[in-house]
Amino acid sequence: MDIARNPSVAAENTQMADAPPEPQQPPLIRREDYTPFPWLVPQIALEFELGIEHTLVTSTLTVARNAKAQRSDTIRLNGDGLTALSVTVDGEPAGDWSMDGDDLILPLHGEAHAIKVVTAIDPSANSQLMGLYASSGMLCTQCEAEGFRRITFFPDRPDVLSTYTVRMSGPKAEFPILLCNGNRVAEGEGEGGTHWAEWHDPWPKPSYLFALVAGDLVANSGRFTTMSGREVELNIWVRAEDLPRTEHALESLKKSMQWDEQAFGREYDLDLFNIVAVSDFNMGAMENKGLNVFNTKYVLADPDTATDADFDAIEGVIAHEYFHNWSGNRVTCRDWFQLSLKEGFTVLRDQLFSQDMQGEAVKRIEDVRILRSAQFPEDSGPLAHPIRPDSFREISNFYTATVYNKGAEVIRMMRTMAGPERFRAGCDLYFERHDGEAATCEDFIRAMEEGAGLDLEQFRLWYSQAGTPKVTVRLEHSGDTATLHLSQQVPPTPGQPDKQAMPIPLRIALFDRATGKHEGEQLVVLGKAEDSFAFTGFAEPPVLSINRGYSAPVTIERTVPHADLVFLAAQDDDSFARYEAMQELVVSHIVAAAGDGLDDAARAAGRAAIRTALAAILADAALDDSMRGELVMLPSQTYLSEQMLIADPGRIHAEREGLKAWLGRELESEFVALHLRVSEIPYGLEQAARGARKIKTQALVYLAAGNPDLAAQMAKAQYEAADNMTDRQGALMVLTGLDSAARTDKLIDFYRRYQGNELVIDKWFTLQAISLHPHAIEHVRVLAGHPDFTLRNPNRVRSLYMAFAGNPHAFHGESGEGYRMIADLILALDPINAQTAARFVPSLGRWRRIEPVRAALMRQELERIAASDRLSRDTFEQVTRSLG
Ligand code: ZN
Repeated sequence: MDIARNPSVAAENTQMADAPPEPQQPPLIRREDYTPFPWLVPQIALEFELGIEHTLVTSTLTVARNAKAQRSDTIRLNGDGLTALSVTVDGEPAGDWSMDGDDLILPLHGEAHAIKVVTAIDPSANSQLMGLYASSGMLCTQCEAEGFRRITFFPDRPDVLSTYTVRMSGPKAEFPILLCNGNRVAEGEGEGGTHWAEWHDPWPKPSYLFALVAGDLVANSGRFTTMSGREVELNIWVRAEDLPRTEHALESLKKSMQWDEQAFGREYDLDLFNIVAVSDFNMGAMENKGLNVFNTKYVLADPDTATDADFDAIEGVIAHEYFHNWSGNRVTCRDWFQLSLKEGFTVLRDQLFSQDMQGEAVKRIEDVRILRSAQFPEDSGPLAHPIRPDSFREISNFYTATVYNKGAEVIRMMRTMAGPERFRAGCDLYFERHDGEAATCEDFIRAMEEGAGLDLEQFRLWYSQAGTPKVTVRLEHSGDTATLHLSQQVPPTPGQPDKQAMPIPLRIALFDRATGKHEGEQLVVLGKAEDSFAFTGFAEPPVLSINRGYSAPVTIERTVPHADLVFLAAQDDDSFARYEAMQELVVSHIVAAAGDGLDDAARAAGRAAIRTALAAILADAALDDSMRGELVMLPSQTYLSEQMLIADPGRIHAEREGLKAWLGRELESEFVALHLRVSEIPYGLEQAARGARKIKTQALVYLAAGNPDLAAQMAKAQYEAADNMTDRQGALMVLTGLDSAARTDKLIDFYRRYQGNELVIDKWFTLQAISLHPHAIEHVRVLAGHPDFTLRNPNRVRSLYMAFAGNPHAFHGESGEGYRMIADLILALDPINAQTAARFVPSLGRWRRIEPVRAALMRQELERIAASDRLSRDTFEQVTRSLG
């Protein structure tokens, strides 16, 4: 009916003429509203007739009443944009089904039924990359969290576990390879050049772990024999031209399988493990049972195209997805509020693995750096949520650094308090007790209490309270006693104005100033708002090393003399604490300078202390270069901003760059000598050579700030001499920030050399978007019009715009142009790929913590986005929370 001609609607319209247009509020889903599903779906049989533009899906569900749920005489099958072509119940066409929004509602009166539904989908039109979609000629799926409902009607929730049998058919020339979860049980040729395959997965799983891939792929294959002697076939599936870059991924997979047996006693449970690399992917990778689907970024590597950091990231992500086979698949989540149950735990597991593979000290520092730059801003902003959230409108928005990285820190604290052996016993009990179930965070905590012998009553607050706790530290000395006075404060966060004190485990050591030694580390657990701990046997005031190894995800506030920090930076035997002392030295200096300001004497004293500490690190022959690379790294602008109630990005940037330039000049000959020394070390994958490459570019970074002409010359030489991507990218990064002839030259050279290699061209976009060049914003604008740029590929979008949003001087440029650019991007991308678009909102959502002029500009852009009447649920939720 035409709305204008309906009198009642017309009347209502006139009445409401003055009211602002109300966007349709997607419903809020609450954790406390959980109820079990009234039906069990023990089995599902799926049939796919595959085509890039037309795929027919026939799904047969075996359903039975769930005795543990409230009885219902209907079943709700979730759908998202689907039309049912036919619905049959027990072989008879069902006439009495109806649609409730996107869901299909079917009356069911018996105890058990077979439901058959036929749907048709167009994968080529799927730009959201959720459900079944096309990526460079192949078909693949992404179902976590709620993508399965874009393929067929189903109770698309993680507590409904089914055994899957899947038959797929399609043109053999187009899709020579047909893959699914589990094992291939049959295959054959069909008519007209088609073929088919049937797969069976013996392990019951929720729909989010379903996967299917069809395409023209080749595999790098290997074998792994499990601890009980099962022979597993391993395949890394890629496009033919990518095959030479798959060896590292295959080796990483074997190492992961081995490590999980030895460190957690977890063995693989199928005869086949497939990994497929796809170019168009919203996230890093996905742990579908027996068929992991990966972003190419986390599979493909060789020394000419991937940096050392890329190699490490691949190893870590392969491990992460593999480890999910137990922490996620064998034991899955009851509902999406429990996401951290699988993600926090699996991140911890991959971190411990990488610590063993790559070195504990450096890996720990890197992980803390990620937490601080990605999670801290979340926890102190409008999007703050506990690791186990209480409500959401769109679950995709909760795949956050809080759920993942803070979630890992919370489980790491349990491990610190229990010790590795008792922690392992807790994990064993958890896996044993909940194997085959959809569990909750509470189940995990209980298994830890019983298996590891911990009392976690108060510790549960870490699951329910958001916000980064602040611990204030004061060390008092009198007679022969050192007394540690600690107090904690958990800041208010949206919806949580008042907080309770949490147990905070702090590893500490007290150093004798004269000998540089301590009597052993201790674990202090601060469980109250305030507490004191006395240590005797100190005739002189000791130097306090606290939160060693970053034992608790908190910020430490203390006033310490520069001299103590210089002492710790030079000689703490805990590598993390050494790094931390160096950071503290720099952070306190820059925060003071960019905040209230420093007079000349205070500035000189601050700089001198940093110079002394840095010089000692550069001169320390006992230090390996990889660790040296960590120690000389200046704290990021994001982390610095976090330390200030209201940050002025312009001033922080100026102070940070000013300090870097001063250090570059003061220590110029040291940096030049260092660069020369490490440039002699030939390419290799061993620790020493990797450390050399890391510090090589770091030296250039300081020199570029202190002596740009010299640095441009050295970077040009490094670029030309490079026989690997780490050196080449490092040199080009430095050049891209400088105004020199070599800049354009080498950017053109790099592009020509790698044209057609998507992942390396992503780097080329990123280097220009993160650059210190004063015209970075114009460069980004031009690059958005480059023929290689497209909004359809998430990696490419992120390579330009995520990089740009993380470039403080460009994004926070005074004109507000940077904010406008990101808002324009969000509006343009939202209809194409809502999940990716929504991930850009938090950069603008920081406005409350930014100085007023910029804050107003940021807010204005958020309001402009909010005014759009066709926002996705994803972007709508993030924008309203950011403004709220
Ligand atoms: Zn994960």
